[in-house]
Amino acid sequence: MAVPKTRTSKKVKRQRRTHIKLHVPGMVECSNCGELTKPHHVCKSCGQYDGKEVVSK
Ligand SMILES: [Zn+2]
Repeated sequence: MAVPKTRTSKKVKRQRRTHIKLHVPGMVECSNCGELTKPHHVCKSCGQYDGKEVVSK
């Protein structure tokens, strides 16, 4: 088994992890209200889909 010769410094470790960040997967902004929704789904907050009101409140 390969063993690291030198310990990775905090700086190098943090630099490597700058690409790793939290994000909401598969979410798009609603074109009407800007709320985050699932793509190809009716927006939960305004009930619109494809620019038309599908679900009324
Ligand atoms: Zn919306």
